[in-house]
Amino acid sequence: MIIDCHTHLASPMVLPPVFFDGWTDNIRRLLPPKLPRAHVDRIAQSFRLALEDPDGDQLIADMDAAGVDVAVLHIIDFELGFPGRVTPLDEVFAAHRRVLARHPGRVVVFAGVDPRRGKSGVELFERSIAEWGFKGLKLYPPCGFSPSDPALDPFYDLCAQHRVPVLTHTGPTTPRLSFRHTHPSELDDAARRFPTVDFVLGHGSVVHRDDAALLAEFRPNIYLDTAGFQVVDRQGEWSSSVAFFKRRGLLRKLLFGTDWPIHSQVATTAAARQRLAGPDTGGLTPMELQWILETNAREVLKIDAPSSAPANTTP
Ligand SMILES: [Zn+2]
Repeated sequence: MIIDCHTHLASPMVLPPVFFDGWTDNIRRLLPPKLPRAHVDRIAQSFRLALEDPDGDQLIADMDAAGVDVAVLHIIDFELGFPGRVTPLDEVFAAHRRVLARHPGRVVVFAGVDPRRGKSGVELFERSIAEWGFKGLKLYPPCGFSPSDPALDPFYDLCAQHRVPVLTHTGPTTPRLSFRHTHPSELDDAARRFPTVDFVLGHGSVVHRDDAALLAEFRPNIYLDTAGFQVVDRQGEWSSSVAFFKRRGLLRKLLFGTDWPIHSQVATTAAARQRLAGPDTGGLTPMELQWILETNAREVLKIDAPSSAPANTTP
């Protein structure tokens, strides 16, 4: 079984145009000064959502081509970050419930809720877990809160009660939002106070790598995902990162994630899976690769091992 622990539905409802506007603002400033306008526009356009897949059918096709069995879809609650400019959260939740029903056993949904919604947000999260079968909490601190904000305590209590994990975004994102609470250390207080809840630092093996690794090394309940490693790989840096995590003894804390569809123009899921541990990525053993692709995510997500799994691959 292979699990992609970090994906999104390819729909403007989930990843809104205003989110991508910031990326294109930035890319225009990074390009050489004398490029023809059409060329600049084309590059900027490539940072927008190229794919419309609101039912998840293309996601499943990409997973099939890559041999990925299960994808975790993350809802991001953008409503307080981009007031009036995004689809209301209840509609986004409804869309994910439809995808869950359409592709049973192939997708897992993490509910995204901004803690500043207060009681109604807690109720929505509880309902999504207890009634709709969602399996975790997705936090997006760039919208303006810390993952250790006490307002999240009732959410974490529910995570402990229902034994579901939390995945929190780390690192810079669209320049239209704040980077202030996106450092991995922002999670430390919550992880200490809720030791029975597992936390995944989204992009933790890619951005603020050393600080994320330190937390994963010393906090039993902190994990890192690989979402966005495709960019690091294109820059030629991924193989040294894999070697770094292996040296530090952290391969049991690493979860395969692609951030599909964000990087799907750079690398399909199949290519990403191949590049994750290609021949130049530090010599992972088949067992170590299985930890990253399957075992670690199964433990965090509480997905039982398939009965046909070879006995010697579970450490
Ligand atoms: Zn993501």
